[in-house]
Amino acid sequence: SLFRAARFEISIARPQDLPAPDRAEIAFAGRSNAGKSSAINTLVGHTRLAFVSKTPGRTQLINIFRMNNGAALVDLPGYGYAKVPESVRKQWVALLEEYLSRRESLIGLILIMDSRHPLTPLDQQMLNWFAPTGRPIHVLLTKSDKLTRGPAIQTLAKVRKELKAWGDQITVQLFSSLKKQGMDEAEKVVAGWLEH
Ligand code: GDP
Repeated sequence: SLFRAARFEISIARPQDLPAPDRAEIAFAGRSNAGKSSAINTLVGHTRLAFVSKTPGRTQLINIFRMNNGAALVDLPGYGYAKVPESVRKQWVALLEEYLSRRESLIGLILIMDSRHPLTPLDQQMLNWFAPTGRPIHVLLTKSDKLTRGPAIQTLAKVRKELKAWGDQITVQLFSSLKKQGMDEAEKVVAGWLEH
């Protein structure tokens, strides 16, 4: 499958070290501790590659995975971690703004949100930077196993409603790395992006 065949390529510390923008990229972004590393590990299927950090916000590297078709999965630094100095936080957010709003090769964004705390102001900020590119965004509401069925469905409906103004450009689903739920749905969305 698309994700399972992805291989870790490189970790970089600075955006200027990104590969040449000549092949399609799909970025993963999310608030620190939202479950981004776990989601990438679950989708790609290697536990050793995107390290699940016990100290959120510590490893601020951009991890790049290469898929068979040449497209890259770009694991961006998590944002919003409180325990780093304000100056460092500002630098990370500036990096994200630059990348999301200007990267020509970025064809779609997977935005990871904890299903119990979706759509924080910084999540909205990421949407506001990327959505003007006109390219698609898919929201993974992670850790859905922490909600029972009723509240999970309510959260999904609520987030969809709040993002309705963006129309088809933004899609939303529930995801659980723990229960391995939502993998097929996520993969279908990304496969659709790569076809266009
Ligand atoms: P990141 O900072 O966004 O990369 O978040 P991590 O992937 O490191 O996850 C943060 C914490 O949430 C870790 O303790 C994970 O074990 C936990 N976690 C991540 N995904 C899930 C999930 O789907 N279900 C549950 N129950 N816990 C999760």
